[in-house]
Amino acid sequence: MSSICDSCHAGCCRAYRLIITIYDFLDLVNAVGLEKAVNATTFESMPYNPNYAINKNIMFPFIFDNEGKKGLMYSLALKKVDSLLFPGTTKCSFLHEESRPEPNINPELRNHSQHPGSKVSAMCSVYENRPTMCRTYPIGFNPNTNTSLLRRRENLPNAAEKAAYQICPKEQLELTDFGLTKPETIMKKNDELLLSDARTHAHNEAVTRWNSQPERSIDKVVSFILGIGNSLIASYQAPKMQAPPIIETSIPQAAKALKKKAGQRV
Ligand code: SF4
Ligand code: SF4
Repeated sequence: MSSICDSCHAGCCRAYRLIITIYDFLDLVNAVGLEKAVNATTFESMPYNPNYAINKNIMFPFIFDNEGKKGLMYSLALKKVDSLLFPGTTKCSFLHEESRPEPNINPELRNHSQHPGSKVSAMCSVYENRPTMCRTYPIGFNPNTNTSLLRRRENLPNAAEKAAYQICPKEQLELTDFGLTKPETIMKKNDELLLSDARTHAHNEAVTRWNSQPERSIDKVVSFILGIGNSLIASYQAPKMQAPPIIETSIPQAAKALKKKAGQRV
């Protein structure tokens, strides 16, 4: 049986904001070269929030002093481009999409023939070097409890109007949908979650340095990121952290099943 992602149109790569760390950017530079990595990324603006650094588990945004950029903050993100197969929608520029001559019917998925994923195949062209957010989805690391959280698929605002923004074509996500059945795959996912956590903290340290310096021109930010390189992340990688078990979930039924499996009271 193919996994749920094999039969999906990659709604996740279309619907979400694709915020990345500077380390994800450096991975992309290694994978596709500096010019392509720069062209595939962008700085998404948001209103200036003086308290942006309160939550260290959320990626800090950059501040730029260029004319027209003052009073805003900017998250490093993957750029979205127009989708050819879903006109009027956008997708990650690394997402390669193709029409399927015949709908791909996955019997595990209810009403899948009506889902846009049945007629479209989509593949990440930088899969081996995809950003940590893409690697860990749909699982998040909860640093407060040192556990992992299987996220409920959100009701995204555009999903009702635009089918491309509908994500996983299943009522309820399970670990098995993402191949998370064997201990070794779960451990691998945990390692990715911990790396994601480390990258977020190192990213925040780098951005704090950027935001505290007097010269904050957007023209200099790429060379700043290249200059930081892996120097900050190195200190977060050692000593090796203990991988937490995946037991939390925002989906009540799945939480029950997972806790039962882990021998906990439900
Ligand atoms: S099944 Fe979900 S996670 Fe997998 S490609 Fe589709 S939207 Fe993304
Ligand atoms: S990098 Fe790959 S996995 Fe991540 S959003 Fe883009 S296409 Fe999807």
